[in-house]
Amino acid sequence: MNLAFIGLGIMGRPMALNLKKAGHRVFVHGRRAESMAPLAQAGCTACASPAEAAAQADVTIVMVSDTADVEQVIFGDKGVAQGAKPGSVVVDMSTISPTATKAFAERLMAQGVEMLDAPVSGGDVGAINATLSIMVGGKPEVFERVKPVFEAMGKNIVLVGGNGAGQVAKACNQIVVAVTIEGVAEALTFARKNGVDPARVRDALMGGFAGSRILEVHGKRMLDNEYKPGFKTKLHQKDMNIVMQTARELGLSLPGAALVMQHLNALMGTGDAELDSAAVMKIVERASGMER
Ligand code: NAP
Repeated sequence: MNLAFIGLGIMGRPMALNLKKAGHRVFVHGRRAESMAPLAQAGCTACASPAEAAAQADVTIVMVSDTADVEQVIFGDKGVAQGAKPGSVVVDMSTISPTATKAFAERLMAQGVEMLDAPVSGGDVGAINATLSIMVGGKPEVFERVKPVFEAMGKNIVLVGGNGAGQVAKACNQIVVAVTIEGVAEALTFARKNGVDPARVRDALMGGFAGSRILEVHGKRMLDNEYKPGFKTKLHQKDMNIVMQTARELGLSLPGAALVMQHLNALMGTGDAELDSAAVMKIVERASGMER
């Protein structure tokens, strides 16, 4: 297929490379020329704008930061919408607002362009190894057309529902991860305050109902007091902001998510935006005079 890929950051760069490796023709655009250089070396075609890349493509993939960035890349000056052919598909793989996603899909449909939302989980390692989990929203027939493209980037690929449903699934993922991080941080602090070795507590909990990937991976980071990312606090805060904003729009009460949002805000305030979001532990410890 002829593919366009816009946004060549930590995730986008290896995802675009995997599409090239799978034998597709890939037209790339990054807003900094230097971000396109490694892709051009690998045989992708560097384009001057999102519109120029999209004009060549059956499927245009967008992988940028937040809702406003996706809007700018698709609908801004020289954006994807100015180049995309009727009948082509725009796939947004960034993590953004589900409500905005539905509106973007309607705007594209008005010019005969289909849209899928397809946010991912699995981090940069999953992007490099093409093992991402991909949560998709959109029409089933459009999903089937794009499926071979997803299969070059990921493993667990699920059509969740209509436009926006992929972003809803991703928000659900982030709620579970955030609230579990908070629970693990509180439990390990509870152990230490009781004079019990939190590492032994984690070992004991691992095989029971409290066992989880978060207890395993993030719990280890907490025990080691070592918060090299992983998934940065500032990105987790962005995602929880999407959750809380959507909850407000819907009149939905999410007190657990709201609490963790405050702890992520606190980490931003203490200059820890670049740390892994397991650093929520630092806020939990500070509140009880348990800093290390
Ligand atoms: P990143 O490294 O910061 O890359 C984002 C890319 O988007 C950058 O290349 C940036 O360009 C470009 N960009 C941002 N705003 C733009 C705009 N308005 N116009 C043009 N280009 C723009 O972030 P990432 O880690 O790849 O994350 C991308 C998305 O995937 C985010 O929504 C994130 O939440 C999600 N995600 C990330 C992970 C992870 O572990 N990193 C996991 C799952 C999902 P510049 O290079 O010029 O800044």
